[in-house]
Amino acid sequence: MPFTPPVAAAVRKSHPFVLCYTCLAKSLALTEPDVRSAAQQLMLNGFTTQLRACSTCMRTDKLLVLTPDGESQTLGETSPLLP
Ligand SMILES: [Zn+2]
Repeated sequence: MPFTPPVAAAVRKSHPFVLCYTCLAKSLALTEPDVRSAAQQLMLNGFTTQLRACSTCMRTDKLLVLTPDGESQTLGETSPLLP
């Protein structure tokens, strides 16, 4: 699953906005099937799918988002401003 790290990083980076598989693929210079297969792996690791609108192209689809667990991990990594 070589594409999971960049896809996971892109989803975390865009949170709380979500990107569709097409826009994720474009931003990472991957193909959409690559992103979808990475998403399948990530669904077992802190990510899930929700019916959301892509923040770039506004298309509504079942998109890869962080689970509350994955979200708290992200907050832990990116909240240096909190005491
Ligand atoms: Zn999109």
